[in-house]
Amino acid sequence: MNSKFEELEREIKTCTKCRLHQFRKNAVPGEGNLHAEIMFIGEAPGYNEDVQGKPFVGAAGKFLTELIEKILGVPRSSVYITNVVKCRPPENRDPYPDEIETCSPYLDKQIMLIRPKIIVTLGKHSTNYILSKANVKIKSITSVRGQLFNVTILGISLNVVPTLHPAAALYNPQLKSYIEADFRKIKELIHKDVGKKGLESYF
Ligand code: URA
Repeated sequence: MNSKFEELEREIKTCTKCRLHQFRKNAVPGEGNLHAEIMFIGEAPGYNEDVQGKPFVGAAGKFLTELIEKILGVPRSSVYITNVVKCRPPENRDPYPDEIETCSPYLDKQIMLIRPKIIVTLGKHSTNYILSKANVKIKSITSVRGQLFNVTILGISLNVVPTLHPAAALYNPQLKSYIEADFRKIKELIHKDVGKKGLESYF
């Protein structure tokens, strides 16, 4: 792992900048390919993530992994997965605005180190956070899901594709097909972008 990333992970794992550190077993910096072209950003760790120190390892994570591996057709390890907030909020409540504000500089640093071509935002918190950096205001996640936003954030020109949070499909199975449709669009985008290079060179 490159040393800037190692240092950043160390900082995240020992962070005490907001109240959430008091409740955690483990902070969850993120995991995956540091040269990934695609980055997935969720909301905050849940119970299983807090126990294991890894993102999206519970039921929502199982679904996300399936979407990546079955629809995009690439191993989960070829992308980078993280969250806006790196410590689990008690009882999995939504992160408070001040927690997002305090924690999000870590996400910004991760984006600047990885420099992805595509950011897939999972749910309203990460969608709001990322699109507001490009001054895009959204009415709701359902009004923007599956759309492509070509934006410059943190000095990087990239595509943002918002989709619903995979956990939403666990509560309401009808939403599964929306998320799957969004992932098929992401696959199309990858194919358009890589052109003749072939998908393997993209990941
Ligand atoms: N939900 C999230 O938003 N992130 C995780 O890592 C797990 C569940």
